Amino acid sequence: MIDGLDTQDIRELKGVGLAMAEKLAKLHLHTVQDLLFHLPIRYQDRTRVVPIGQLRFGDEAVIEGEVTGCEIKMGKRRSLICRLKDPSGSLHLRFFHFSAAQKKQLENGKRLRCFGEIRRGSTGFEIYHPEYSVISEQEPPLESALLTPIYPLTEGLTQTKIRSLCDQALERLTDHNLQEWLPETLRQQFSLPSLKEAIEFLHHPWRDVNLEQLKAGSHPAQYRLSFEELMAHQLSLIGKRVQAKQDNAILVPEAGDLSQALLAQLPFSPTGAQQRVFGEILKDLNTGQPMLRLVQGDVGSGKTLVAALAAASVVQAGFQVAIMAPTEILAEQHYRNFTQWFEPLGLKVAWMTGKLKGKARAKELEDITSGAAEIVVGTHALFQESIEFDRLALAIIDEQHRFGVHQRMALREKGLKNGYQPHQLIMTATPIPRTLAMSAYADLDCSIIDELPPGRTPVNTIVVSDQRRQEVISRVKSACEEGKQAYWVCTLIEESEALQCQAAEDAAVLLQEQLSNLAIGLVHGRLKAQEKADIMARFKAGEIQLLVATTVIEVGVDVPNASLMVIENPERLGLAQLHQLRGRVGRGQTASHCVLLYKAPLGQQGKERLSTMRETSDGFKIAEKDLELRGPGELLGSRQTGLWEFKVADLQRDKALLDDVQKAATWLYQHQPDHISPLLSRWLPNHSQYLNV
Ligand code: ADP
Ligand code: MG
Repeated sequence: MIDGLDTQDIRELKGVGLAMAEKLAKLHLHTVQDLLFHLPIRYQDRTRVVPIGQLRFGDEAVIEGEVTGCEIKMGKRRSLICRLKDPSGSLHLRFFHFSAAQKKQLENGKRLRCFGEIRRGSTGFEIYHPEYSVISEQEPPLESALLTPIYPLTEGLTQTKIRSLCDQALERLTDHNLQEWLPETLRQQFSLPSLKEAIEFLHHPWRDVNLEQLKAGSHPAQYRLSFEELMAHQLSLIGKRVQAKQDNAILVPEAGDLSQALLAQLPFSPTGAQQRVFGEILKDLNTGQPMLRLVQGDVGSGKTLVAALAAASVVQAGFQVAIMAPTEILAEQHYRNFTQWFEPLGLKVAWMTGKLKGKARAKELEDITSGAAEIVVGTHALFQESIEFDRLALAIIDEQHRFGVHQRMALREKGLKNGYQPHQLIMTATPIPRTLAMSAYADLDCSIIDELPPGRTPVNTIVVSDQRRQEVISRVKSACEEGKQAYWVCTLIEESEALQCQAAEDAAVLLQEQLSNLAIGLVHGRLKAQEKADIMARFKAGEIQLLVATTVIEVGVDVPNASLMVIENPERLGLAQLHQLRGRVGRGQTASHCVLLYKAPLGQQGKERLSTMRETSDGFKIAEKDLELRGPGELLGSRQTGLWEFKVADLQRDKALLDDVQKAATWLYQHQPDHISPLLSRWLPNHSQYLNV
């Protein structure tokens, strides 16, 4: 193709000099084609005159009428108020800045045509500073049949200017100079308009269009662009996956005796779901290509055991396994489990965190490097350059979403010896909504442990205002007197651990004053590991009845006799975190309760979130709701990868498209692979930076 719009410099357009080009560059507008993709954020309907009587608050509309009065009001701010009347009603135009000449011009009997936003003012409907012109009785009617686009701007760029530039770009658009990368077959199959049609329409929709549909982003022209963008995104993930799968990985022949021996020493047998997922993992390990598998399962579904079974199989084949957790506490918990499970089987489990120093560190390093330790548990310290594995073949990553894609890649490199990639098993503590799984994790295969071990009782959740704190305290008292145990969890908005600990200390003192007969313990992140372990052991043994804690107990606590949890200020936490916390109760035979003791008054979003917690204990539903209320960036806890920043698409709004997008992306991959790279550079110009493709 000769001279596509993507090769035409924006400075070729009328009215773009060096200074203007610099401003446009701030909006990433460099070529004529970039302007075509610079889509309006909304539209104004200036195509018809709306009778004043039909206006609604918030409308932007053209009105016409006769001036029936004009005066200066003193009030809080001096303003000029002009009354405008048409046969259906009247309203006021209000000017805070005005000249004497202007007042004179707005005399009784003059006809005006105005445009502006309808507000509720002190006199009823008002328009502040309308655009207006004085018109004659014979004024020709409005002519345009097109809606007026409102574009995103930057400093020094006006709507008029950007409109003129976009219009110039549209004038240059022909059937041949904007490359269509979605073949006819695909467009027909998924009923997508052509790119040119979609773009022309979105810059200047006809006035008869359904404006509500356009506002909701569900017009076919908008779908077309979201579709293409989501496809580009999928394609980059497919590419990444295909690339990873091209590498070799060690082949694990079968489950073997070690995993059987592991199971034999457990007091329970695996659930059907655990067995199925372990089977899926074994299949991956048996291909000779690196496994890239995400295991999702609700709190308490038993992901650790699945990880341990996978580890056993790889160790049996003669290789090393690394297990990485995002926090010390979680890593410690895994370390305890893995040593308990594997040391009796004659294996060595090594330990590595940033805090480990001196001789102890040297010892562990030695075991990792020499290969004496078959299993290594740790935090992200495992990524450090100084750490060399002898024969790493499986990396297990718990709670993936707190790690970035980059970190995952870094661990991958640790195993790159003699051309072998380590297998990757990623476990998420919180279920990932399907929408996100399909976009952020499309490079991974996915297994779901959709069954809880037997004997769990659902937790009854109650939402209570802190005005009823005393009642809640008495409830704790009677539960403990009946021999049950309880948690009292303190939260703070600030990430500051010091403040959190302080809040928990204060709460513990206050509760002890009121509940002097109870044995109360306190645990928070600033205690030494040994102190923490002692208190937890005493709670587990039943010596402590009420445990006051910060959110450190979110993970790693398993006390089946604890059947009551009070969470203070739950409105400050994300739903996923609340769900995790609540998962600490409901582990035994007695009915469990969770009291969400919120600080009144609660905003609309807060209400909605807490009632979600009350209504469901399904981690997947909770995650969906969290996504809806807080957005993907918040949920995944890292915006830095840019994975969910789209130009046109919106994951939540467009989630119904995802299945089709996936099909279309796969089709394109197989049939028109030459279209992939241009699609990626159109939509993800920086993709190589974060996707490693
Ligand atoms: P999560 O999926 O939240 O990481 P864990 O792996 O920590 O869950 O398991 C939660 C608890 O359930 C642990 O105490 C574990 O020993 C226990 N558990 C795991 N699998 C089973 C099973 N099949 N039957 C009974 N208890 C199990
Ligand atoms: Mg876990």
